[in-house]
Order: sequence, then C-alpha cells, then structure tokens
Amino acid sequence: MVLTPMKLATVWLGGCSGCHMSFLDLDEWLVDLATQVDLVYSPLADIKEYPPGVDIVLVEGAVGNAEHLKTIYTVRERSRILVSFGDCAVTGNVTALRNPLGADNVGSILQRCYIDLADTHPQIPQETGIVPPLLDKVQPVHRIVNVDVYLPGCPPSATRIRAVLAALLQGKTPQLVGRELIKFG
Ligand code: SF4
Repeated sequence: MVLTPMKLATVWLGGCSGCHMSFLDLDEWLVDLATQVDLVYSPLADIKEYPPGVDIVLVEGAVGNAEHLKTIYTVRERSRILVSFGDCAVTGNVTALRNPLGADNVGSILQRCYIDLADTHPQIPQETGIVPPLLDKVQPVHRIVNVDVYLPGCPPSATRIRAVLAALLQGKTPQLVGRELIKFG
C-alpha cells in the first residue's frame, strides 16, 4: 500500500530565521523527511499562498505586526497540527523585548532605530500594503491561536526538531523529556 505523504509547512513570523537554520541542520535526515512529506509552504520554497489541508506546520517567531496576525489566523484555519517553533513563538523572546516599553512603544522604537541611530538617510519605512504596521504588543503564538505542540529553544536543536517531527509523522504525541529536549535558550 502506498501511503500519501503528509503535507508539511513552515512559517516565518517575527523571528530571526535561526529556527529555520536549525531545521536545515537536520542534514541527512532531511532526505528521510523528504520521502515522508510534501513541503507545501515555507520560506525555504517559493510558494506564495498558504494552502488548505496542511498536516503539520512549524511556526517560527512571535506575532508582532499586522501581517503576522493575518498569517497566523490563516495558518491555524488551514492546518491540523500547529507547532510553536522556537522561543520567540513560544514566549515572545527576543521579538518581545520592546513590550516593557509600554503600549506606545511603536513610535519610540521606530524613532530610535530608523532616525536616531541612522548613519545616512534617516526615515521611518512606511508604505501601505508593503510595510505592515507594528502591533502595540508582541505576542507569542498561543496568545492568538491554539497551539498543539510546543518546541522550545533559541533555536531548538536539530535533535529536538527531529524528535518532534518523527513522533508527529508516526501519529504520536511528541514527548520532550530531559534537559536536551526541553530547556529554553
Ligand atoms: S527563537 Fe531564537 S533562533 Fe528562533 S527566531 Fe527567535 S531569536 Fe531566532
């Protein structure tokens, strides 16, 4: 009997892409993975629209701007198992460092980054429909939509990513036990 490959997606919200780089550290296991899944959406592939019927999605990054917000609702609606992938997705982590500055942090952050510290051409990037506005507060993924599996780490090690994906592909609930598999940072 030929099994239908699972549909795998990865999504990049407010994060540094380090979690995706760690995914690539799966090295030769990526070849095994490729025999078990169809990669249907990812920043690693040139696919423009998030498709329906995704079995497993790894979501890197926190929700920090209007585009992230729109994306995560679509991802949740179209995915069966949503994995909060990395500390930014799980806790807000680095992406949420602006939150303690308060609800009006957006203006002061943009001013500091793009005006005060600019070496040349100080200006705040803005273009309707192209540069998404920042939200008042950065939120971890589970504060916006339901999360099925948490995969902590900054970034999660390839060992940890493999442990989660291997279990999910077998229809099991991942069991992250012990320091190597559950510590943050
Ligand atoms: S968890 Fe760490 S590696 Fe992953 S996106 Fe956030 S800062 Fe980058």
